[in-house]
Amino acid sequence: MASKLVQGKHSLRNRLLIAAGALAALAAGILAAERPGSADAAPSTGYSVVIISGDGMGPAQRTATQLAKYGYKTQPMDALPAGGLLKTNSILPVTDSAAGATAMGTGHKVKNNQAGLAPNGKKLENLVELARSLGKSTGLVEDHDVTNATMMGFAAHVKNRDNKAQAARQYLEETHPDVIFGGGEEVWYPEGHPGKLPDVISDDKSTGRENLVKKAIDQGYQYAWNRKTFDELTGPQALALVQDDAYIRGHEIKGYKKDEDPHFVPEPVLMEKALEILGQNPEGFFIAADVDELDDAGHEHDGKSIIQSGQIVNKMVEVVQEYRETNPNVLLIVTADHETGGMTVETPAMKSTNSGPDGDVPAYGTPQNVPLPGGETPKRSGPFKVKGKDAKFKVDWTTPGHTGLMVPVTAAGPGAERFSGVHPNTFVHEVASDVLNGTP
Ligand SMILES: [Zn+2]
Repeated sequence: MASKLVQGKHSLRNRLLIAAGALAALAAGILAAERPGSADAAPSTGYSVVIISGDGMGPAQRTATQLAKYGYKTQPMDALPAGGLLKTNSILPVTDSAAGATAMGTGHKVKNNQAGLAPNGKKLENLVELARSLGKSTGLVEDHDVTNATMMGFAAHVKNRDNKAQAARQYLEETHPDVIFGGGEEVWYPEGHPGKLPDVISDDKSTGRENLVKKAIDQGYQYAWNRKTFDELTGPQALALVQDDAYIRGHEIKGYKKDEDPHFVPEPVLMEKALEILGQNPEGFFIAADVDELDDAGHEHDGKSIIQSGQIVNKMVEVVQEYRETNPNVLLIVTADHETGGMTVETPAMKSTNSGPDGDVPAYGTPQNVPLPGGETPKRSGPFKVKGKDAKFKVDWTTPGHTGLMVPVTAAGPGAERFSGVHPNTFVHEVASDVLNGTP
């Protein structure tokens, strides 16, 4: 697989080398296979890649976040020097997160709902496994459960995205990400185990089969469950199962404020710590990060949460960009697995024509996020103020599900300029693996 990953690069190289003869080509092949440090113009440290996926983050999600938080200025995720569009289809025109992440994480288009597996069931090498085979450190950073479909596409091989406990076990037994940061402790503890986080709503109760936290600790992982223990993490291996930024929690628990929850760690802080720990490896690292709340908010037609979650992407981008100032060998890619909701940005005068949300979070109800009889704007769809201006805008939707739209991709660092143009989402994997292989 690894050799296939660099095939694109080799074919370009080979075209240049045909004239130089077979011997030169052989020498170049050997050179390309060597690690950074020995190749020409090699950096002093290995190449690294950070992928931030805003789950369901299409052009409208990016635009609404920009207008509400930066006015007409360019937001951090759009200020990266290179960019293009990605086609998001799986083997169907409309993908889910598992197939979307698998395309980016393994370079293969697969069936929806399964991650890291070819349609024939064969395991596909993912970027976590590739980076590890190159001696690099690896990490997962997630605002929801760290065993969700997106993380699976980068670090697991499961037939069904609902098999979260299986993904957790695979992290420890097969793919070994050095840093595992996110929510979802319930699948890491056996049923009946109280875990470390308080069980407030039914979703909090342990549903796993074995104590995977103990297994991780036995393997040498440091373990954190709240902000205090998180701040003490030093690595090189760390598992943090903290309170996720769950959509349901914020709306089902009266008066819940995540920032006052001692078990909540803000996503940019998760990223900062991941960089601090993984950056200790001179060979470099790979990080897959996901802001899943964008997708939930898209399904629920919740423009307010879209904007808040989009801003989390911007804050994570700022953390990585600051890190890149002293570590320029890091390629940062900001994109999405697909678009959710068929969202658009309109003037407030337009009637809302939105379809209904998918109803996973019925807490809102009329007039928060459902279509109103006279076409009035549901509260969660606006109008929103354009930052620093008198102008306002609203958002509208066409579907409670995912769409087959292209999504923006922006990037900075080695290989970033390759994203110019329109590419399949598997191209993320092609560029990322070339950079990890030391041939951006
Ligand atoms: Zn979704």
